[in-house]
Amino acid sequence: MQPATDRNQQLFERARQVIPGGVNSPVRAFKAVGGTPRFVSRAQGAYFWDANNQRYIDYIGSWGPMILGHGHPAVVEAVQRAILDGFSYGAPTEREVELAEAILERVPSMDMVRLVSSGTEAAMSAIRLARGATGRNKLIKFEGCYHGHADALLVKAGSGLATFGNPTSAGVPPEVVQHTIVLEYNNLTQLEDAFALHGSDLACLMMEPIAGNMNFVRASVPFMRRCRELCTQYGAILILDEVMTGFRVGLSSAQGVYAKDIDGFAPDMTVLGKVIGGGMPLAAFGGKRAIMEQLAPLGSVYQAGTLSGNPVATACGLATLHEISKPGFYEELGRKTRALTTGLQSAATKAGVPFCADSEGGMFGFFLFDTLPQNYARVMQTDSALFNRLFHGMLERGIYFAPALYEAGFVSAAHSDKDIAETIATAEDVFANLR
Ligand SMILES: *Cc1c(COP(=O)(O)O)cnc(C)c1O
Repeated sequence: MQPATDRNQQLFERARQVIPGGVNSPVRAFKAVGGTPRFVSRAQGAYFWDANNQRYIDYIGSWGPMILGHGHPAVVEAVQRAILDGFSYGAPTEREVELAEAILERVPSMDMVRLVSSGTEAAMSAIRLARGATGRNKLIKFEGCYHGHADALLVKAGSGLATFGNPTSAGVPPEVVQHTIVLEYNNLTQLEDAFALHGSDLACLMMEPIAGNMNFVRASVPFMRRCRELCTQYGAILILDEVMTGFRVGLSSAQGVYAKDIDGFAPDMTVLGKVIGGGMPLAAFGGKRAIMEQLAPLGSVYQAGTLSGNPVATACGLATLHEISKPGFYEELGRKTRALTTGLQSAATKAGVPFCADSEGGMFGFFLFDTLPQNYARVMQTDSALFNRLFHGMLERGIYFAPALYEAGFVSAAHSDKDIAETIATAEDVFANLR
């Protein structure tokens, strides 16, 4: 029930006067699902409270960073201590070195790392570096994978493999994406054909190993293996965009998950963000030493940032990394996440609603299908009216899932078994009244 004065609605109207669409990032506007976005007033643990003071169990967690839940005491303390020493210096600090070491220790494919402020910046810089290091221009990306909003990455597939992609945003000149080849995710034939055609001109192949920007779609093991083999064969750089999956699906990230199935598997470069900042603006890209040493000031590939390695952000990231490295952390997180998806599955099945779900560590996705989709085209066949009724049914009862069917969900260490049980009980009620 909305109160007589809906503060969310009032704030949304005010916001729309001064901020395009009322939001600072499009998905927050609820455009896909309709209705009024919730304006968050505060958050603690697994919950946030909106402007009407209604509480929600939060399965977005700032779109991934809040793996410990909101306001974890050890992280709050680290940030408070850091702030007293100054907000930003634009000069090197010991804490940046500590964070770099902590990242490299956990993701062994990386020899060196550079810290930046957003995933967009990290992915964009990784591509510039791959191009600079190989002296090649072309790149492969996959439909449904999101790598931030840099011009060369806002591309959808063209009419055929021999043609290049088309911009997905106004303001991106076709010339800027003429080197970007867009392929279907998990399509081995297209992958083989693209390398046969363009292999020796390819600077890199960039992919989300588990694509969280089309809900939750894993690269199949044979597909991932072939991406690795073809990049090696043609001298292209394999870049895993682990901005979402990094430290979210496990301590060695998604690449650690694939290394269990593919002997010696490692990307050449990795892009990180979200969890490594613990909710502060911090991201990173890194990889093999020979590649990373091409970056300025050592090499000829330019990249810089006034707030890069910010001392408050690195304090937040380090404290977060420390907590998630405690023994058993991912086992417990994975157990709770599976309890959630299993419970949602039985709620849907009981109500006769088609449903399937998948998860890894603290990241999950569910689909209103009987079987898991393998690519973007299939994800987008979701019955969006049904999804929207599910979303709003849960939202009205205090459960905050992603307001779009192509977004992943996140469980944090702060979600209790009771929170999960409450979510499942709510879902039973909502699914039963969905049709
Ligand atoms: C969120 C995300 C980005 C972009 O990161 P921002 O910090 O939002 O710029 C890039 N790649 C992936 C896989 C992401 O999930």
